[in-house]
Amino acid sequence: MGVNRVFFYARSPPYRNTRLTPEPPGPKLRITEIFRSIQGESTRAGLPCAFIRLTGCSLRCAWCDSAYAFHGGQDMTTSEAVERVLALGTELVEVTGGEPLEQEAVYPLMERLLSAGRTVLLETGGHVALDRVDPRVVKIVDVKAPGSGMQHANLPENLDLLQPHDELKFVLADRRDFDWSLDLVRGRRLDERNTVTFSPAWGMLRAEDLAAWVRDSGRPIRLGLQLHKILWGDVPGR
Ligand code: SF4
Repeated sequence: MGVNRVFFYARSPPYRNTRLTPEPPGPKLRITEIFRSIQGESTRAGLPCAFIRLTGCSLRCAWCDSAYAFHGGQDMTTSEAVERVLALGTELVEVTGGEPLEQEAVYPLMERLLSAGRTVLLETGGHVALDRVDPRVVKIVDVKAPGSGMQHANLPENLDLLQPHDELKFVLADRRDFDWSLDLVRGRRLDERNTVTFSPAWGMLRAEDLAAWVRDSGRPIRLGLQLHKILWGDVPGR
């Protein structure tokens, strides 16, 4: 008993309320995968992170790397999902997809992960209003450049709902995407309030080219490379 207690407290100082409260009735989650890996993007790249990937997305970005999450998955209650995520033992949790905000149950999911003391990142395509997301959640919002084919889906009002800890990500397929994105960043002065990352679409734009463009942009934009793909390639669940 004594040994177990020592082990429990040794793992738990950063966390709170790891006991789950009874779940109120509500919609279930549709989930593609839950796994532990290294955070590959954002300012937290390199940190151990638990990922929960929700199934389904109404967009079809040309360079989407998670199309396997468009269909399938399994139903799970919020309690089941939270339990599985907490069992992975990371302080950092990312809720991703698909498009997580297209599922109603994502809101109680995020709140319960926050209540359990986790830092919650939300990766969203930016086409669903952010006004219901708990302000403690760190939002990583994709802005769809023309090369995605989904530029029409951007919700400009979402840019006004960002908090200083939120981040903006632009995935770029070519120089036209870069110029379009830089104009938007400059025009809205987005990089003065939030971290802005430009990433090359995997297999479509050379990282070296984008690095040079970012270097010469005159703006405090970060070059984002997908660490998990550099390490393990473009495979699901990594
Ligand atoms: S929003 Fe995300 S999940 Fe949906 S198609 Fe675009 S990249 Fe894929």
